[in-house]
This record gives sequence, C-alpha cells and structure tokens, in this order.
Amino acid sequence: MAMKALDIYKLLPKTNCKRCGYPTCLAFAMKLAAGKAEVEACPDLDPGTKALLGGATRPPVRLVGVGVGERSVAAGEEFVLFRHEKAFSHPPGIMVQVSDTWPEERVRSIVETVRETVVHRVGMDLVLTGVAVRNESRSPGRFAEAVALAGGGSTLPLVLIAGDLAAHEAALAVAGHYRPLVHAATEENREDLARLAKRYGCPLAVRAASPAGLAALTAECAAAGVVDLMLDPAPRSLQDYIAMATGIRKAAIGRTEPALGYPIYFDTTPFRETDAALAAGILKYAGVIVVPPLPPATVAAGLTLRQNIYTDPQKPIQVTPGLYPVNEPGRDAPVLLTVNFSLTYFTLLGYLEASRIPCYLLIVDTEGLSVLTAVAGGKLTETLVADSLRNFGVGETVDHRLLVIPGYAAPLSGKIEDATGWKVMVGPRDAAELAGYLEKEWRA
Ligand code: SF4
Repeated sequence: MAMKALDIYKLLPKTNCKRCGYPTCLAFAMKLAAGKAEVEACPDLDPGTKALLGGATRPPVRLVGVGVGERSVAAGEEFVLFRHEKAFSHPPGIMVQVSDTWPEERVRSIVETVRETVVHRVGMDLVLTGVAVRNESRSPGRFAEAVALAGGGSTLPLVLIAGDLAAHEAALAVAGHYRPLVHAATEENREDLARLAKRYGCPLAVRAASPAGLAALTAECAAAGVVDLMLDPAPRSLQDYIAMATGIRKAAIGRTEPALGYPIYFDTTPFRETDAALAAGILKYAGVIVVPPLPPATVAAGLTLRQNIYTDPQKPIQVTPGLYPVNEPGRDAPVLLTVNFSLTYFTLLGYLEASRIPCYLLIVDTEGLSVLTAVAGGKLTETLVADSLRNFGVGETVDHRLLVIPGYAAPLSGKIEDATGWKVMVGPRDAAELAGYLEKEWRA
C-alpha cells in the first residue's frame, strides 16, 4: 500500500537540514507521498529505509517513454483510479496501424495523415501520436522496409508488432535508435525479445491473457534488464478489456501486485466497434492505443475525448485575461465582456469571427469559471470589471464608454455602471445570438 505523509515522516531523520531541497522533513514527506520527490534526495537515510520508502512512494504505474522528439509518448506515472481524485497526467499515445503487406503509397499516405492531422480546440493543437507497423508479410525484409517508410521512428514514434524475432531484429536495425515500442514478449519468446529490447534500450510490451501471466512476464523481463515495460492484456472483447484494464490499474494503484505497475497497451484493431474501442482505451487507462486508419470525425472525437479526460477537472482550461481585437475593430467597435474560461472564449470567438463584426473581447480573470458560475460564486464582480477596463487600457482603445456584458451577468449591470462609469448593455445569454443582438442594438 502507498504510505501516508505522516508515516513517511516518522521514518525520516527529522533534522530539517534542507539538503533534500525542501524546508522541512515533513515537506519532503508530503512530496514523497505524492510521488513528486525521490527518496535518494535525503542523504541521511540508511539503505533499508531507502528501500522501504522507495518501494512505497515511487509511482505505482511506471513512466514509460516511447519514441523521441516532440511526438514522443510518456505513459504511466498515474496515481489514482478516478480523475476527480487527482488529474490523470499522461495522455495515451494514439498509434495508427499500417501493415507491411500494404502498397507503399497507402503506407506513405497514412503516415502523412498521422503527421499532418491537427485538431484545434480551446487554444490547443491536438495531434495523433505515431504509427504501429504490423508484420503480416512474414518477411523480415518487408517489415523493415515498412518501418523505414513510416519514417523509421525519427519523426513519429513507432510500435513494432511482430511475432517473429528475425522481423524485430530487421526492424530494430532501422528504427532501434528511436525507442520504438517492441510488441510483444510472450510466454514463448520472452527471453529473446527481452534480450533484443535491452540491446537497443527500447520499451517492450508483454502479452498475456491474465493478470498473473502479465505479472510473470514483467517480472522475468525486468530481471533480464528491461525496465520499460507495457502490459497487453490480449482482450477478447471490449468488455474484457475494460475489466482487465481496471483490474490491472487497481492492483497497481493499491500496490498489491507491483509487477503490474506498468502502462497498459491496447490494440483496438481486432474489434469492429473502433470508436467505442478507442473511447474505452482513453477512458480506461491505456498508455498506448493502436487503431486502424480512422475517418476524420472519429479522430476528432478521439482527440477531443483524450483532451477532456486528461484535463484537470478542478482546473478549467483558461485563456489569458486581456483585450482581444476580433475582425480588425476600430475605435467605435463594441467592447464585449466575458470570462477567461477557454470554452466560453473560443465558442464566442467562433461566432464573432463567423459574423465578421469588428469588436473587442474583454476577457476578465474569473479563474477559469464560466459566466454563470463566476457570477454565482462571486468571482465576476464590478471591481474586477473596473480593474480590467483600467489595466487593459480599454478607455484608451475606444472612443465610446459602452460595455456589453453577457446575459447571465445581468444582475451586475447596475453595480458595474456605478463602479466603472461605463454604460452597460446586457447582451444575450447564448453566444449564438450575439451577432444578431449587435446588429440590432449596437450604436456607438
Ligand atoms: S535532507 Fe533528509 S533530514 Fe534533511 S530536511 Fe530533507 S528529509 Fe529531512
């Protein structure tokens, strides 16, 4: 079981010498308990205490990297089952499968699609991760050629899927320097694949249809010197995947089976319900998800879901407060007040850009709360509006003194007028109605 901060504290020297980088032993204990510090940072611990604390405080799911460069995946280092307890921190890599039996042009086109696909959402660029190359030709040479066609791992992370040692040897000769994920060590080939993965310093997936089988394989591979491992539970159905993945995560988080403390690998390609499989992988703990080539709508849905699940539910995505020009406004353009909750901002921006109405968006800092929540919670106040008008130089930017506030902020209209000296116009509640409202009501 994970140790609590006070239990850890009892084992520390309690000298508060600060050499660990923290002001007190208790502060260090709290960081250890949260998995945010390494036990080695305290030089005064004896080896036995170090071993005890290390085992109890290291992340229950090991952080495993696949690939190099900006698209590389870091999977694992998670501490909880549910994201309301603590935000999930490492979104799964989504790897699009190609086969070494496919024509060269098809492989090139899919790799290009993976490289170029970008979904812009709430100020972020969401991208696919990499390519999974499957050896279906049974030819090591063709497998290596397909791996080279996929870029060899130099620009996109790769998963190398083959049941044959010779195929892996040929592929790793091409891509081994770029940390591809080698799939998969099984009961039959574990020694050979572990040796190969160790030689290239690559992460290795192990595959077995039971938690006990997976734990046995990871224990053997770790003993053989491969520490970056992933678990492929070889699910027979989506239901099976969800049950297996949940069981593995529970065992890892509860530290009841440390040999299951690795990220999960999920291959969705055997299942007809690709959308549901992708969603299941994202929702239920996968670190790497292999998918077939997907239609753009499915990609957009998957990337959006991944973004949502791996966003801290206690910290809304925010935009920087300020005065934002939209559609090249002049000095008589309307000033529209809203909050810095990203979804509000980007929804509003989308409607305003489409309307082509020149205006300014005055974004005030409500700590990422929506308009309704910010008004109800006292985060959107007349003082904040007055400060924002002053701090962002709105009076110097436009010639008028009219401020359009969201419909949900109507209860504040009088107070804002008193605090700012600006005349307040109460806009609609729905952003979709704003363009029509401005066309009808706005007269500077
Ligand atoms: S280095 Fe060790 S003894 Fe010193 S403050 Fe940190 S935890 Fe305490």
